[in-house]
Amino acid sequence: MGAAGGVDSTKEVGDATRRWNRTDRRERWARNGNGARAGTRPDGRLGYGAGRKLCLPVVWKNRAASAGRALLAGGMPGLRCILDAAPVKIAIASGKGGTGKTTVAVNLACMLADRGERVQYLDCDVEAPNGHLFLKPRIEAREPVGIPVLVVDEETCTGCRTCAEVCAYHALAVLKKPVVFPELCHGYGGCALVCPSGAIREVNRPIGVVETGRSEGVAFVQGRLNVGEPMAPPLIRAVKKNVLADGVAILNAPPGTSCPVVAVVRDADYVLLVTEPTPFGLHDLKLAVAMVRGLGRRHGVVINRATLGYGRVRNFCAAEAIPMVLEIPDDRFAAEVYSRGQIAFRLLPEWHTLLTVLWQRIQSAS
Ligand code: SF4
Ligand code: SF4
Repeated sequence: MGAAGGVDSTKEVGDATRRWNRTDRRERWARNGNGARAGTRPDGRLGYGAGRKLCLPVVWKNRAASAGRALLAGGMPGLRCILDAAPVKIAIASGKGGTGKTTVAVNLACMLADRGERVQYLDCDVEAPNGHLFLKPRIEAREPVGIPVLVVDEETCTGCRTCAEVCAYHALAVLKKPVVFPELCHGYGGCALVCPSGAIREVNRPIGVVETGRSEGVAFVQGRLNVGEPMAPPLIRAVKKNVLADGVAILNAPPGTSCPVVAVVRDADYVLLVTEPTPFGLHDLKLAVAMVRGLGRRHGVVINRATLGYGRVRNFCAAEAIPMVLEIPDDRFAAEVYSRGQIAFRLLPEWHTLLTVLWQRIQSAS
């Protein structure tokens, strides 16, 4: 479906848009399944959606077509390829969970791989990585990750309390002797430096694993945090050490705006904030925007499941001068593809247009 690498992407948008406009929805739905006619029931009758004229709102069809025409007509001045500033790190984040970060991340990775780009998907949502459900990578290596934590030799300790006084994370308490709370320890070793008796030493505490592999042209990396382990940032940093020296790295961030998210987006070249048109989505989007602004990261907003109510998000973005780089329509077909663990880009032609427009807009923002 995707064009080979080196093909002019503006032409791609136009071609995809024209194909999309020509395509009969019924025929497309019939091609949606995993080799089978997904819109057809076992008895051969047409199933859900097979007889529908459109699976997307007409308004969206028109909008996607006009976006393609705008690109064809040179309607996006300042378009600049950022692939020469390698590696390009695109972080996919959101305030609220469940807005479609992984959908955008894996589809964008597949689109770029089909264009012949060197692309890498890094799942930094280490508490619940799920990109593997869609990319289905062949895992080639697993590397355990640990962090240094401190242990105290009670025989040597004099109980002077100096260590507890310097510990900003309250990971040490001195009763008669020091007690270390390893889950709180950040392992920077300040306590060992100040201990006058040399009673403190480091040991390694495993926190998770980094897995690397490949999936149809996409280099794959994911972190898996041990169950109950609160220290996600060190594992995220270990995942990011695998960013390739060139190409495009797509980093799927955890939801929220706390330390693990900051660890992902702090050095990203561009942050895509994926949101949904609900009051919760908008509330958390505002927090996420404040975070990326605080970090000085370029960013844009993707509205997923754009349907009734998304005007509030659009108004917010307009008022704050935040680029809205994509509106993904509320589409039951896309939801069904997602629920089957499939890649919408490979099954729904309109996603080719959507993702190509998205990539163009990311590039133009650089
Ligand atoms: S290494 Fe740092 S965080 Fe851990 S106990 Fe020592 S001072 Fe506290
Ligand atoms: S600084 Fe060293 S000697 Fe003093 S309480 Fe802590 S571990 Fe013991």
